[in-house]
Amino acid sequence: MRRFQQTPDWSPGYINVCPHHLSIMAECTACGATREFDRNTLPEGLKHALVKDIEKRLKCVCGVKAARLRFGHFIDAPEKSN
Ligand SMILES: [Zn+2]
Repeated sequence: MRRFQQTPDWSPGYINVCPHHLSIMAECTACGATREFDRNTLPEGLKHALVKDIEKRLKCVCGVKAARLRFGHFIDAPEKSN
């Protein structure tokens, strides 16, 4: 099982300067849903956009545009054995 470890209080500012070893999660601040965000799926016009401007365009399955992008990495969380 993988767990997302967020880098606290950090944002690259612009999406194109986000180091490629970092993973990105999109989190809906309205319903709490999270999904992995793939920067390669960004349209050409947003590849150098401010993270804030990308967040404004993300719409959750709950219908609300209240996304935040979280930067960090996935860690392998061991299954509980007992
Ligand atoms: Zn939502």
